[in-house]
Amino acid sequence: MTEQQATPRSVLVTGGNRGIGLAIARRFARAGDRVAVTYRGEKPPEVADAAVSEGFLSVRCDVTDSQQVDRAFMEAEAAHGPVTVLVANAGTSNDRLLVRMTEEDFTSVVDTNLTGAFRVTQRAVRGMLREGHGRIVLISSTAALHGSAGQTNYAASKAGLIGFARSLTRELGPRDITCNVVSPGLTQTDMSAALTPDQRRTLLRQTPAGRLARPDEVADAVAFLAGADAGYVRGAVIPVDGGAGLGH
Ligand code: NDP
Repeated sequence: MTEQQATPRSVLVTGGNRGIGLAIARRFARAGDRVAVTYRGEKPPEVADAAVSEGFLSVRCDVTDSQQVDRAFMEAEAAHGPVTVLVANAGTSNDRLLVRMTEEDFTSVVDTNLTGAFRVTQRAVRGMLREGHGRIVLISSTAALHGSAGQTNYAASKAGLIGFARSLTRELGPRDITCNVVSPGLTQTDMSAALTPDQRRTLLRQTPAGRLARPDEVADAVAFLAGADAGYVRGAVIPVDGGAGLGH
């Protein structure tokens, strides 16, 4: 059951039009928060459905472009007030073995997954410092801590989020602004659908739960970290991976 927020918060979820991001956005909306999701191509289904569109705003934003990031925040703030919960979820992959990887294959993934998180977090933190509170959750991956053949670019970008969150935690000190990381294992979305049957079998063999995660299981961990009860959880990496990393 979703706990209702006494006071609706202004939440921004990047890449919230599908997959894990959409599940996270729906989780906050169900709790009564005002949610802005970013999209590039397709808007989330909510926006077309008047019954559930109240408090659910979609704003166009490519996280590789700081001006679009700034505009998205301005739109979210105009509609919902200062963003006090940020979920940096937008992510991409472009897998190939290192020997075949071009510099562009590497830097483009880092630019979205890591520098994109930097762009949105920096923009959000300014407002959170003014408000005196905030919750930031970055979506990493088990690939960050375990490595994944064919994903040096992706794993490096996702591991970078952990150092980023921990350093920011030290910078923020005693303020009521937290930055944590959620590290999902293989989850049922378009991204995992792109894996070959062999890759999928190998990953599932390493997962005690023996199945993929559902996007709403990742959303539950994000909702906890974004809540008032998680104020003392800082710089943490929470795995939602069916036991694949046994806590790491
Ligand atoms: P999807 O491929 O289903 O969705 C990716 C989302 O990121 C889309 O909303 C997409 O927007 C957005 N996005 C991609 N690039 C950009 C960009 N440059 N600017 C703005 N938005 C962008 O992925 P998932 O839902 O599976 O993944 C969500 C997050 O979870 C990612 O960070 C991913 O790395 C991570 N993750 C996923 C796992 C999985 O097994 N699925 C496992 C571990 C981590 P658009 O629709 O416009 O393309």
